[in-house]
Formats: sequence, structure tokens, C-alpha cells
Amino acid sequence: MSNRSSVKFSKDYPVPEDMKAWVLGDPDELKLVTKKVPLPGRAEALVRIDAVAICATDLEVISYGTPAIFEGGAPFNKNFTPGHEYMGTIVGLGQGVDEFEIGDRVTVEIHAGCGQCKRCRMGMYTSCHNYGLNYGDVNKGHRANGFTTNGGFAEYAVNNINTMIKVPNEMNDAEATLVVTAGTSMYGLTELGGLVAGESVVVIGPGPIGLLAVAVAKSLGASPVVLVGTRENRNSIGLDLGADFAIDARKGDVVERVKELVGPKGADYVIDCAGNEDTVNQAIHMTNRGGKVCLAAFPKKPVQFDLGYLAVNNIYLYGIRGEGRSATHRAMAFMAEKRFDAARVHTHTFRMNALPEALRYARERVDDAIKVVVVNNSSELSVSAQTQ
Ligand SMILES: [Zn+2]
Ligand SMILES: [Zn+2]
Repeated sequence: MSNRSSVKFSKDYPVPEDMKAWVLGDPDELKLVTKKVPLPGRAEALVRIDAVAICATDLEVISYGTPAIFEGGAPFNKNFTPGHEYMGTIVGLGQGVDEFEIGDRVTVEIHAGCGQCKRCRMGMYTSCHNYGLNYGDVNKGHRANGFTTNGGFAEYAVNNINTMIKVPNEMNDAEATLVVTAGTSMYGLTELGGLVAGESVVVIGPGPIGLLAVAVAKSLGASPVVLVGTRENRNSIGLDLGADFAIDARKGDVVERVKELVGPKGADYVIDCAGNEDTVNQAIHMTNRGGKVCLAAFPKKPVQFDLGYLAVNNIYLYGIRGEGRSATHRAMAFMAEKRFDAARVHTHTFRMNALPEALRYARERVDDAIKVVVVNNSSELSVSAQTQ
């Protein structure tokens, strides 16, 4: 374990011994407690959390535990802090860190792989074979903040330097929390091959990852980009983010309507961000021969799908997990250049001490909430209030 003398601090950013943090008790029970401020070790930095976005996976962790694995098991009643889509300011440097300076604003990826397994060596650190083996407790471990290590519903968190990306001055805190979501969309397109300029891309499901998949696909030159969704408001945001067409999944035969837009042979690439039996089958049937399908949402139970159609048409099927292969850096490059306005998916902002209410907005989609952001820094509240 590190101690304070092995960490570089600055008097410009004083760091207290204790902090406030939300921890998970029983399922669906969050408590605001006082914890020790964690200390960074080698190749790590201490981040003062300024803003954190709520993700559907946070809601899953808080209610069911999965996919979090903390101290070898379910994350309940272990003083575990969830939250993984955060940004903040570096206030402490662990040993050997000269890649960042105290005071740098950074947004973070979730996963630091173990760096030792076969997949980490390939850049697939979100599929690290040592997931759930926390380092600190187990030396041959893996860090996934908010899943296998403490996360961002707190005042401070430790991050591996490979998980941090500098935030440009012009980008506000709330927008910076969205980089990892855009990075997940980018990872899907990366795994599909990435060379989508002039190719047709269909995105099914206008949640945050789907909407930003539209934006990233368009930025990569895909044409046309088609969004399929059931909610008109979400579809119209998709059009703002670069979709050439948005179709209502409840009206008519979705596969036929997509083919009217992309051509009778079907789409070159389809990204399913809804992940149910209907959408998986639609995705396969709207893909052209030799095309590629990416599953960016996890079906909750086994689904039946037309495997024969997939095989006989030489369709490739990809599953993605998280934001691997440094895709978050590429997403940040697009966002820094303002190729798309990710802030279109940010709908609500709450203070950190109102986290339970913020989670309710996200869970129940109150007021058609898409991305709900929680801030420690109250000046952000007025910024986003103006944008709503
Ligand atoms: Zn997430
Ligand atoms: Zn690994």
C-alpha cells in the first residue's frame, strides 16, 4: 500500500485525509459515508472527482451487483463505491508518473487491464483475463473503477495513468464525462474495422451509446447513417448528432424500411444497442451479404436468432465489452474538434449529495432523462441549467 509520503501533492490542490463517498449497502441501498482518501501507487494518480455521469450499468450494479466483482464477489456491504463515467482534476501523483501534472483536468476510461494477460497485450484490456482480481489486494490484478475497484460517486478516486485523457479547456465538466460513452461507441466501430467512410451504418437503439454511435459513425464518414428507435424525441436527437435518417421501429417492417434507405441488399454495418431478441434478428436480417453486425448491448437472457441466415450470408458478428483499444482517446479527438455535440445526450445535472434522486431520474427516465450528470463542483450546475 502507498502512504502519503510516497505521493506527490501540491499546496495549490490540498488533499484532506478523509472524503465523503457513497457506498453500496444491500441491493438498492446507497449510504453517504466518510472514507479515507485513497492513495495512488506506481503508475497511478489521485483524481479529485468534479463530475460523474450515471450509466445504465451503474443501475444494474446497484440493484443486482453484476457485472461488479468486488473483493472476490458481489459488491454489497463492502464499503464499495460505484460510479465509473467521471472526470476531474489530478491532485496527487504516484511513483513514476511524469505523464501528467497536478492540476490537469482529465476524463477517465473504466478499465486498466492487468497488463500481463494475453488480451491486455493485444490492447483488449476491457476483456482482461484477470477481471475482478483487484490490484492492491491481489498483485496480478485488474482495475475497473466502479466495478472491481472503488469508483466515482465520491470526492476522490485513484486511476491508472493509462485510463486518463486530458480534457481541453473549452470542454466543460459534464461534456467530458461523456467521452467514455462515445469511446464505447468508437470501440464498436473499431472492432468492425473502422473504415466505414462511404459505407452504410445502421444503429438500433437510441440510448446514450446508440446516439453517440450515430455521431461517431458519421464523423468516420459513414453514409448513410440510419438510426432505428421507438422514441421520437431520441430519434430527433439522433438526427442532430448526424443520422441521415431516423426511423420509428414501431411503424411497419423495420428491415424493409432500412433496405429502402440503404439499398435492397441491406446495410454494410449494423450496431445493435438495444440487445433483445427482436433487434438481434432485425440486425442480422438488415445486414448485407458479407456485412458486419456489432452487439453493443447485452441481451439479459438467451435469445433465439437466425444463425443459418448469418452463416449462409457470410455475416460477421462481433460482441464488444466496454471501451477497449484506446477508443476513448479517438472519441476525445472527435469531441475536442467538435465533430459532434455529445452534450446533446446530457439532460440533467444534480449535486453529488442528491445522488439517489439523480439515480431515480436515470432509472425511471423522468422528464425523458438520457444522461444524468452528478457534480461535486457546483459551478457546473449553473452551466448545465442554462443548456436545459
Ligand atoms: Zn457506463
Ligand atoms: Zn489483463
